[in-house]
Amino acid sequence: MTELRHRSAVSPLRRAVAGRAVRPAARPLVDEVVRAHRPDEPLHCLRPTVLAAAAEAFVAAFPGDVLYAVKCNPEPAVLRALWAGGVRHFDCASPAEIRLVRQLFPDASVHYMHPVKARSAVRSAWRDHGVRDFSLDSAEELERIVAEVGDAQGLGLFVRLTPPKAETMYDLSGKFGATPEAAVGLLRRARAVADRVGICFHVGSQCMEPAAYARAIALAAEVAAAAGVAIDVLDVGGGFPVSYPDVTPPALALYMREIAGAFAASGLPAGCRLWAEPGRALVAPGVSVVVQVQHRRDDALFINDGVYGSLSDAGAPRFRFPARLIRPDAAAGPPTTAFRLFGPTCDSADRMDGPFLLPADMREGDWIEIGQLGAYGAALRTAFNGFDQARIVEVRDRPLIETPGYGAIAVAA
Ligand SMILES: *Cc1c(COP(=O)(O)O)cnc(C)c1O
Repeated sequence: MTELRHRSAVSPLRRAVAGRAVRPAARPLVDEVVRAHRPDEPLHCLRPTVLAAAAEAFVAAFPGDVLYAVKCNPEPAVLRALWAGGVRHFDCASPAEIRLVRQLFPDASVHYMHPVKARSAVRSAWRDHGVRDFSLDSAEELERIVAEVGDAQGLGLFVRLTPPKAETMYDLSGKFGATPEAAVGLLRRARAVADRVGICFHVGSQCMEPAAYARAIALAAEVAAAAGVAIDVLDVGGGFPVSYPDVTPPALALYMREIAGAFAASGLPAGCRLWAEPGRALVAPGVSVVVQVQHRRDDALFINDGVYGSLSDAGAPRFRFPARLIRPDAAAGPPTTAFRLFGPTCDSADRMDGPFLLPADMREGDWIEIGQLGAYGAALRTAFNGFDQARIVEVRDRPLIETPGYGAIAVAA
């Protein structure tokens, strides 16, 4: 049986990344791992073939370069699976993410797409890691970058634009983004000092509306025209959605059609390249977490993972996640009953209302596999209250639910 590796919270960016990749033939099923190891710590189940297939589907469908947004899940095995699926560009937002990607893939294209950076981080990215592309949304940041990179040969500057409002689970425009008026001035200044100039935006995460990308592209083209600047890259950001139990997003192909159509109609120069920065869409289906029930009180199950662990989106943001019972030694009924979950910490905010549909006779000792946790799951774990341990294993299962546009790709065991 496969050995389980330990994972503490907070450390995924600090680990040594050497280590043997597991041979696909050796990957077990989740049920086999639970039966053999009976884990009483959360068990993170990585599906490298699912991750690689999602990357392959996105890279094949997107009419430009695909940058993986590393913050979503920086686990080295996840990054390797995406690389195997054809991802060669990485959207990094911190020195630790840049170091990690460089260590794993010396030949990768690394882009520093955080609009507010420490001066030392800009300097080190440029000098030590060969990073050439930087995003910004203010004149101050633009001048900081120019000052820190010295002669600026090969510099790429990306103006982050606030896009029009869209139907999303997370609006990301409250923190970053220049108004169209401000972006005009930033583009002109960028063109004067940089070899490569782009516009980037983020329509918001889990964006359910393909037309949101078209509106943002049209605005970007207007801003470029108003500035009189020929841009080299239009970066449509992330936000591509996946399925959750009460949410089936439009097919990936519809997003691609909107983007390609709006780009063709935008009047941007023929040489302008498209980029995307997907996070969630590439990695959410590729990881599940197996938790154990420690106590039942009516319709509430007390489990060993929670909002300070890998389930933060199930807390206040109230995402619903697919769940299934694993009970190796006894029969179980159909999943007909709605349960709430409580995490292991003493904080009363450590609750996940779901509902999670599970068999009526759920009891202490049962395991629950919770799916779609590859994005913003393990990456958000903390050591709060000392519940910082988890195990990790590579498995060959399919995701718990399929997302339109990714399901057609056969996953080989
Ligand atoms: C978080 C982030 C992404 C990824 O967003 P998803 O909604 O997960 O696709 C892409 N680009 C930037 C700049 C981000 O901050």
